[in-house]
Amino acid sequence: MNPAWILIVPCCEEGRGGGHLNRCISLTNELRYAGREAYLLIQEKTEQITKLLESREFNMSWVLNKNQVNRPFALIVLDRYHTPNAELLQWKKHAPVIGIDEGGRNRDNFDFLIDILIPEGFEHPAANITSIGLLELPKKRRTPTDTKHEKLKILISFGQEDAAGLGLKAINKLAESNIKDAEITLLKGGLNKSETPIPDYVKVSESIPNLADHLYEYDIVITHYGITAYEASYAGVNVFLDHPTPYHKKIAKAAGFLDINQFKILTTNQHEPTRTAEIFRTTSSCGSWLSSLKQEKIANLISSFNPQINKNCPVCGKATNKHSIARFPDRTYRRCSKCGTIYMDRANPAPIEYEKEYFFESYKKQYGKTYLEDFPNLIAMAKRRLKVISRILRVKSAEEHKLQNPGSIYYPPIVLDIGCAYGAFLSAAKDEGFLPFGIDPAQDAVTYVQETLSIPAVHGFFPDYPLVTNSSQHYDAVTMWYVIEHFTDCVPVLAEIKKLLKPGGIFAFSTPSFSGVSGRKSLRDFLKNSPPDHFTIWSPKMCKRALSGAGFKVTKIVMTGCHPERFPYLGKYAQDKENRMYKLLMVLSKILHLGDTFEVYAKRR
Ligand SMILES: [Zn+2]
Repeated sequence: MNPAWILIVPCCEEGRGGGHLNRCISLTNELRYAGREAYLLIQEKTEQITKLLESREFNMSWVLNKNQVNRPFALIVLDRYHTPNAELLQWKKHAPVIGIDEGGRNRDNFDFLIDILIPEGFEHPAANITSIGLLELPKKRRTPTDTKHEKLKILISFGQEDAAGLGLKAINKLAESNIKDAEITLLKGGLNKSETPIPDYVKVSESIPNLADHLYEYDIVITHYGITAYEASYAGVNVFLDHPTPYHKKIAKAAGFLDINQFKILTTNQHEPTRTAEIFRTTSSCGSWLSSLKQEKIANLISSFNPQINKNCPVCGKATNKHSIARFPDRTYRRCSKCGTIYMDRANPAPIEYEKEYFFESYKKQYGKTYLEDFPNLIAMAKRRLKVISRILRVKSAEEHKLQNPGSIYYPPIVLDIGCAYGAFLSAAKDEGFLPFGIDPAQDAVTYVQETLSIPAVHGFFPDYPLVTNSSQHYDAVTMWYVIEHFTDCVPVLAEIKKLLKPGGIFAFSTPSFSGVSGRKSLRDFLKNSPPDHFTIWSPKMCKRALSGAGFKVTKIVMTGCHPERFPYLGKYAQDKENRMYKLLMVLSKILHLGDTFEVYAKRR
């Protein structure tokens, strides 16, 4: 399999072909230039499309037809305007799918969304990346010397094909206005098949090579919402839009463009013709806001994607409705419709490795001290957790056992701590009479457990590491403290834990909760601040359903991470721990499961 292959699928349907196809041709070219093996899919090659490809000097060996797409693509980019759901689902079977300026009802189902021309906050759910800076803007912009020409210069351009006949409509509007004696050019693109006669005084041009860098030569550009509108604005030209569809009209308004009716008002009421011409020659409608843009190449962005996408829910393993609940530049969060877990699709693998640095610098950044400095506090927490486990397991001490069963051998309960780090829990378990065993991916931590604490531990990744060779059902308890959220796939993890535990054994873990006070205040903010290597996010409610499917019964939930001061409205009265409001909200937090973290104790069936 060649992981570098990228398929670009443009919108070529009659009526809205040109702009999308042109952009996809550029993207394919740029990806090729960046060393990626990109292909352009042309579902149906018409004469007009061939003409456009030839005019762009596109390498025809990079064009695929619909019978040639059964290849192992690493990425599929859809620039399809409104992608039908059946088509999207078909593409998703092949590879992760990125949508560019997707305006359809299935936006939610895209793995990643990049909005270039869809303004932030427009009626659609937010994209992963929204940046007009991904547009390639013209190099040439209008200066005062460019406005000295005698006749007002007007360009009318409605793309490669003007199915709605807006070009002719604009010519008629100009004829009705008080702009006289202007030099009008109608750009009749390569895909335009219309044979409607155009008045003699209008210059008709089939194409203007490298149009973007000629826009500055005009005083007025009349076009529809799209790339040319932005390019012309940036070039410092007065831009007026007409709209092929109500969608174009809405989006143009949201982006703040002037429309053709405002042009009519400007040109009929206010001034006599020479003054009107003078105004258009010396001013530009907008464009200044585009000047401060940080520009980035879309090909570089696409090329940087190496997605990690969940085909099924990483906790219950079922195929679920994949509706996104929040998108950020590096990730998309979804909620499983079957078990309720929130999980993450990533644009690139998470950048964290669990080595020494994690327990020192990263830990300190998060908790104010290193893991080892925090040891006494961690021991105290471990003892509380061990008490809960002992109670559920009805663990007897060696003395109690001897009294009740004189003469029989005493077997202490065995506990496996996965992600044991520097062994605080293992150390407490040893003190409490358990036989502890640890596993951790950080070598330095494992050495510390083995040598300083004299507790057996292995260096490796769970569940790949072969922990039990001769007998499964070995452990009385398996624990994972703030570890479960770090697995990209929990399904084999839960299956292996079930295999390792004795029937009736305890699986105990702690993890952040998305239904705590922070998640309820703003789930989006909560997810935005969630670390990049927390692949699944749990809640007390959903964990019962999810664990039941994996063969566990939740017997106890302990709310931790209760923060009365984070409550909306009342939080400001609960800043002090001695305060009555603080104490009241703390009780509420525990009863209503509003902690930002929680512990789960589940019995293996
Ligand atoms: Zn699920």
